[in-house]
Amino acid sequence: MHEIDGSYGEGGGQILRTSLALSLVTGAGVTIGNIRAGRPKPGLLRQHLTAVQAAAAVGGAELEGAEMGSARLVFRPRQVRAGQYHFAIGTAGSCALVLQTVLPALLLADGPSQVTLEGGTHNPMAPPFEFLDRVFLATLRRLGASVTARLERHGFYPAGGGRIIIHVEPVRAWQRLALLQRGASVHREIVATVSKIPLHIAEREAETLRFRLNWSDAEVRSVRVTDSPGPGNTVYAALTDDQGHTEIFTGFGEIGVQAETVAKRVAAEVAEYSRSSAPVGRHLADQLLLPLALAGGGEFRTLPLTPHTETNLHIIRQFLPLAVEVVQAEDRTVRISLSTTALLPPCLQNAISPRR
Ligand code: ATP
Repeated sequence: MHEIDGSYGEGGGQILRTSLALSLVTGAGVTIGNIRAGRPKPGLLRQHLTAVQAAAAVGGAELEGAEMGSARLVFRPRQVRAGQYHFAIGTAGSCALVLQTVLPALLLADGPSQVTLEGGTHNPMAPPFEFLDRVFLATLRRLGASVTARLERHGFYPAGGGRIIIHVEPVRAWQRLALLQRGASVHREIVATVSKIPLHIAEREAETLRFRLNWSDAEVRSVRVTDSPGPGNTVYAALTDDQGHTEIFTGFGEIGVQAETVAKRVAAEVAEYSRSSAPVGRHLADQLLLPLALAGGGEFRTLPLTPHTETNLHIIRQFLPLAVEVVQAEDRTVRISLSTTALLPPCLQNAISPRR
């Protein structure tokens, strides 16, 4: 039984999700204390509780402390089963974050799975659907995973009501991934979307972002109206290089914040990424660690590390025998290399590519 301190680092929900994911994958039970102690409303919120229940369903786990507000959880998994799953968060809690809790186990399960998630698909502080699909899952596909995602309906904060459907095949052989160099840019686009708010908001965001980035009109691909249960708005810039790697930077409309301000924040993130030569953006960096660890290692170069990335590395190392090398270059990019230092648990050995 692992003991995890949920107040470590920034003390957020990712410690819980990573711990549950690795408990399922290794079969080892886990007790997580001080859950989300670093957040203004600590303990399990609806979205975290759904992640716990989803992990318990996938792994037939016994639970203690799985209640709203709980600061301590005991999770004892039995057997992970592939299958048809349906998880409704019931608020605008992030579908992507609940998925990331169960996806590693389903990638190593005994057959294909289909997961339907209902809740938020485009929430601030979580991966929006386009990032999930075109950045995170796309990178998993390069690691050897066969996983597809479909957005059936947008769900914005606070009304939620979105739906995504994920199809997962078990990984046959992991591929070694080294995302060290950014390739030449082959595609760039800006997309702004609104639900139940005036279209001119999306038009102003797309135009401000295009102007700030000095991209061409042709690179503003679209301004879209979508039908979600509640009002909402996002604007994103996507950049794809000739190595097939895509990064997406998203802004979320907020009441009282001008469309131009939302776009300027996104422009600042894109500009920082564009100035750097690192291929992996800040959000993918923290999310990629767990899949790379499952794959038995790999490496990538990214922007200066966030607390999320450092915390996630620490938690993963509580479960798996990993050597981690973090090297900061003069241009402030950071290379992270992961390798296994001992035999991985039997459930992972099968999935490791014989080529390595
Ligand atoms: P808490 O509820 O404790 O505040 P949380 O459960 O929402 O936290 P965090 O621990 O803050 O979760 O983790 C949020 C995750 O969402 C991180 O993996 C982060 O990289 C990712 N994320 C946040 N914003 C974006 C974005 N704009 N694009 C892609 N990923 C994002």
